[in-house]
Amino acid sequence: MKSALAIAFLVSASFVAGGPIRSSSRQCGTRISKGKMIAAEKQFQALKESRLTMKAAAGADDSTPGPINVYFHVINKNETGTRDDGLIEDDIIEKQMKVLNEGYEQSGISFKLQNTSRVHNPEWFSSASPDSAYQTDMKKQLRQGGPGDLNVYLVGFEKGDAEGLLGYATFPSDYEGAPEDDGVVVLHSSLPEGSTAKFNEGKTLTHEVGHWAGLYHTFQGGCSKDGDQVADTAPQGRPTSGCPRDNAPDTCPGDKLTDPIHNFMDYSDDECLTEFTPGQKKRMYDQMRVFRKINYPELPEVGAPETPAEPETPTEPETPTEPETPAEPETPTEPTTPTESTTPTEPTTPTESTTPTESGTPTEPETPTESEAPSEPETSAEPETPEEPEFEFPWEF
Ligand SMILES: [Zn+2]
Repeated sequence: MKSALAIAFLVSASFVAGGPIRSSSRQCGTRISKGKMIAAEKQFQALKESRLTMKAAAGADDSTPGPINVYFHVINKNETGTRDDGLIEDDIIEKQMKVLNEGYEQSGISFKLQNTSRVHNPEWFSSASPDSAYQTDMKKQLRQGGPGDLNVYLVGFEKGDAEGLLGYATFPSDYEGAPEDDGVVVLHSSLPEGSTAKFNEGKTLTHEVGHWAGLYHTFQGGCSKDGDQVADTAPQGRPTSGCPRDNAPDTCPGDKLTDPIHNFMDYSDDECLTEFTPGQKKRMYDQMRVFRKINYPELPEVGAPETPAEPETPTEPETPTEPETPAEPETPTEPTTPTESTTPTEPTTPTESTTPTESGTPTEPETPTESEAPSEPETSAEPETPEEPEFEFPWEF
């Protein structure tokens, strides 16, 4: 697959005895460049406007779309072997479908299994990866349906560039240029009850289908304003590892919002992934209506998440008073107790320095509305160039 928009999970530790090297945390091999992303978003905005105009002219039909057809292609490396050889039984596929539908239930998107094909091909099983001829060949031979049909390929990701991958997907905007390449490829042992520890509840497919439906990672663009192009996902500086549910990190401290560790588009362990936001739901509807020709309704705009103002407000008024206490009076005591002199000064400095940046956050809600405007002028004016480094992910492998 030549697409620069391919998404890949990299896992590097040893969960599967004798298998590829995998680690205890997901790591991303996103190949999206800033230029490609800007072009895709520009095309998306333009098409969104024109399709809505066409739809209005044709008379609105807001009937709820039926379930998305799903075609599973189970690749095995041994025709008589175990599940580790890729022999995935129907009951596991059914459990995976249940996990997929549960993940999207709140978004009003559903999936229906149409067919499961089983294919013996050790090379596809071991070496299919985003840019390999193996995966192109595999998809060309097996893919079924049109732009609105989901094809899922189960492989082993054992060798070469494939080794350690957990999954990857194409975006809706890729379809027109490479329809035969459309779909998601996931590690067979990421399905329910699989052998890939921490990633064996079937949520990898839920995540990959999120890309297939038009979502970026929640940490896309790091702490930058536009980030993942969804207003109500908290800015996130880097992917989450594990499931820090009792102490969620805040990798973009200025926004007072903790990282979206439970979002399906983060990299937390399967047990942690439970939700899509209303803004993500809207983006999936828009993306699939525009690029996959599925008639999802036009939903109202979703604003930025509200900052947890209540707990913070009382502390803020107190901060200005702190300067007056200029703890320095205590400094005279320094000669006697040298240890005390350091303690009072430290607490004041960090709190004051963060407050001014936080006050900038409330302005963000305006950003989503701006992007809705016939955004061509904004996007084409590429003053974003200085932001480029923010699209380069340090966790890329
Ligand atoms: Zn991903």
